[in-house]
Amino acid sequence: MSHIVEFKECTGCGACAAVCPVKAITLDGQPDGFAFASIDDDACIHCNRCREACPAINQAELRLQEAVYAAQSPAREVLLRSASGGAFFELAQAFLQDGGTVYGAAMDIVDSAAHVAHEGVADVAGLSRLQGSKYAQGAAHPVFDEVKARLRRGERVLFSGLPCQVAGLYGYLGRGYDTLVTVDIFCHGNTSPHQLNLYLRYLKDKHRRDVTDYVFRDKERGVGYKSRLTLANGKVVRMTALQEAYWYLFQTSKFYRESCYSCPYACDRRVGDLSLGDFWGIERQRPEVLVQNGGPLDSTYGISVILANTDKGKSLVEASALVREECDIADVIPGGAAVRAPQPMPEDRSVVLQMFRAGDYAKIKRYCVRQMGFEYVYDLVCDTPPVKLLRRLLGR
Ligand SMILES: Cc1cc2nc3c(=O)[nH]c(=O)nc-3n(C[C@H](O)[C@H](O)[C@H](O)COP(=O)(O)OP(=O)(O)OC[C@H]3O[C@@H](n4cnc5c(N)ncnc54)[C@H](O)[C@@H]3O)c2cc1C
Repeated sequence: MSHIVEFKECTGCGACAAVCPVKAITLDGQPDGFAFASIDDDACIHCNRCREACPAINQAELRLQEAVYAAQSPAREVLLRSASGGAFFELAQAFLQDGGTVYGAAMDIVDSAAHVAHEGVADVAGLSRLQGSKYAQGAAHPVFDEVKARLRRGERVLFSGLPCQVAGLYGYLGRGYDTLVTVDIFCHGNTSPHQLNLYLRYLKDKHRRDVTDYVFRDKERGVGYKSRLTLANGKVVRMTALQEAYWYLFQTSKFYRESCYSCPYACDRRVGDLSLGDFWGIERQRPEVLVQNGGPLDSTYGISVILANTDKGKSLVEASALVREECDIADVIPGGAAVRAPQPMPEDRSVVLQMFRAGDYAKIKRYCVRQMGFEYVYDLVCDTPPVKLLRRLLGR
């Protein structure tokens, strides 16, 4: 077995595996559960197409935005299912109205284990599977062949994914298509499915029931990072951001894949026709656009930031039903870690990865609780029924 690039450069986008004419490349057997391209040297015909397609070797073109928007779906039910302001749903809906197929990441949970993978949908009803952030790396490359076949037939395709996945698609296609629109999702780092599944197994053991659904950002309690777990007996468990440690580890960048810490896409020049993220800090940067100040955007269930990086992207925003206000990239940068720079690698990352390898999530949680300290205790106290009731009565 040999590799196309070293693990620290490989993003696991899978362009190499999809382009290989003899299917000699696999993405398994990875360190810490991360997809890592390996070549079966006996099967390899040395055509070099994997290296030509690899965005770690031939970097995709990055573009500076033509327009920046703070935006939001006008529909509450769309906002409830979306991680931020529902920009993805509204753009995808506008795209589907003109015919075409939308590709994005869906998550299924089988036997308490999550499987994140890209799939295509051709009608608005199917979009719900793609809505919402799944904070673990999935497989996008298995749909690359299908995307190419559609584009060759002249069909319209909207492909959304993390910037490294969009770069992987461009590398695989090797040329542009007028009927392709790409959407890259702001990303400040990603974890492996193996790590997510250790966490889900811990939840299964803790609640003594299979996990049937997991929503990373449950909006019933407003915007934020509060997760919702559904168990096999139908019981729904709602957690705060700090209670289960996965989120703490994610936010503090402690267990991302190695390439994320030198990600070439974590900047304001973008790979997609459009880029979507959370508009964190909008209340400080652009308070006048919020409803409480007479503006059109309501921060209760999240507001999206959209970077339109090409005319194609801008036209799709204009064709959508999104409520929007033009902004400047300078408004986005203070709250937008994903457009500033890659996250620095924390000193204790190797300690955290070691604990994941040992497979003891309870130990990981104890480690996180110690680090969170007072913040964790405060969060727990605030989540008890009497305090919640008191806060509701006081309107806080
Ligand atoms: C791993 C990850 C890290 C992120 N980091 C940041 C960040 O640092 N800052 C920030 O502002 N926003 C970040 N986001 C983006 C944010 O969470 C929202 O996804 C984004 O704002 C779009 O929200 P929405 O309401 O428009 O649409 P939603 O309906 O919430 O998002 C749906 C879109 O997200 C895509 N998607 C969801 N999960 C995955 C996945 N695992 N892999 C590939 N695509 C996926 C779907 O394909 C679809 O295109 C991150 C998202 C992910 C998945």
